[in-house]
Amino acid sequence: MKEYEETRNSLIEMLEELDDRLARISQDIQEPLDQNVEEQATQAENNEVLDDLGNAARTEMEMVKQAIARIDIGQYGLCQVCGKPISKERLKVVPYSSLCIKCASQAGC
Ligand SMILES: [Zn+2]
Repeated sequence: MKEYEETRNSLIEMLEELDDRLARISQDIQEPLDQNVEEQATQAENNEVLDDLGNAARTEMEMVKQAIARIDIGQYGLCQVCGKPISKERLKVVPYSSLCIKCASQAGC
């Protein structure tokens, strides 16, 4: 699939970026807790936020991986629900989108 080679490369770049982000997040989370009780509460809150960020990054990574897999099997750019082509504009904004605008709005994402 020569057509999507550039897209595939940028998806791989995204994957590496997300991997970096996740590594930084888990480093932050592993910081030892401060002795001060108030500090501990703040850190626990921070960890929660970092946890959310980590989960978001993981979800995004999963979607990027799936998009790369779809390029490899020649299914890239096709809606996973209705099978219709996803618009080029949409793929430009979200290169790993797996749903067309119509199905995505019905799925609520
Ligand atoms: Zn669709």
